[in-house]
Amino acid sequence: MSTLITEKFNSVYGPVDSWRYGRSLGIDLIGEVSTCSFNCVYCQLGEIEHKTEERKIYLETAKILQDLNSYRPFNDTDIITFSGSGEPTLALNLGEILAYLKLITKTPTLVLTNGTTLGDTQVRKELKLADQVSIKLDGINGEKIRKVNRPVREISATEIRDNSIKFRQEYHGKISIQTMILVPWNEEHIREYIEIIKAIQPDEIQLNTPSRPKPLKHELDARGNHSPTSIRDYPVKVLKCVSSDVLRNMAQKIQEMTAIPVTYR
Ligand code: SF4
Repeated sequence: MSTLITEKFNSVYGPVDSWRYGRSLGIDLIGEVSTCSFNCVYCQLGEIEHKTEERKIYLETAKILQDLNSYRPFNDTDIITFSGSGEPTLALNLGEILAYLKLITKTPTLVLTNGTTLGDTQVRKELKLADQVSIKLDGINGEKIRKVNRPVREISATEIRDNSIKFRQEYHGKISIQTMILVPWNEEHIREYIEIIKAIQPDEIQLNTPSRPKPLKHELDARGNHSPTSIRDYPVKVLKCVSSDVLRNMAQKIQEMTAIPVTYR
């Protein structure tokens, strides 16, 4: 059973300017209730309303295709990004929509995932249809993940690392690792992170700090509002960021030790 949605809900939004990917058209396979296996302290969706790891149809495929078709032929779009109102790999129709896009456009596709479902063979199979996959890795151990990502079940950095390695071995597209830096990391944490990165061998690493405010409750606008400074007409909490010097130093160290390009913002 899919979730009931109101008529005005559009599962496709944008395109929005993304500093990493250019003009990004968003696809939301989740719907109006934010749904994720994490509840990250910095989540731009606000507190996650439905915390779950259940894979199911959240939005009917027919509705998503109808919304998508109204954007064809995807002019002014550099990339089609699966992100939206939660974790896209929880949607059972992820593979179906990716396969459909392959048929109708050459515009590259990107899936942003928190990595919690990468142990599932079917999820990895579906993700192989994407041109790029970005995996979240915010902590180098279970304690950090518990504090920052607040997962629905105990999950270790080792589990995310091992499942990412498995995916790396099976997937020929571009993998990036996305890491949110909330406070400066000590040398030991950076060293451990570098070891994890070396094991996964992504094509790119992205270091971020939470420059976007966090809505106090879920706001649909937040899924596509990437600007740190735009006016938001709902209550938000401004999050503490690290300075760009901190990000730059960390990026330099990681790049030197891994020979993998690191971008930061
Ligand atoms: S994984 Fe993404 S959608 Fe889920 S809580 Fe974290 S930031 Fe929000």
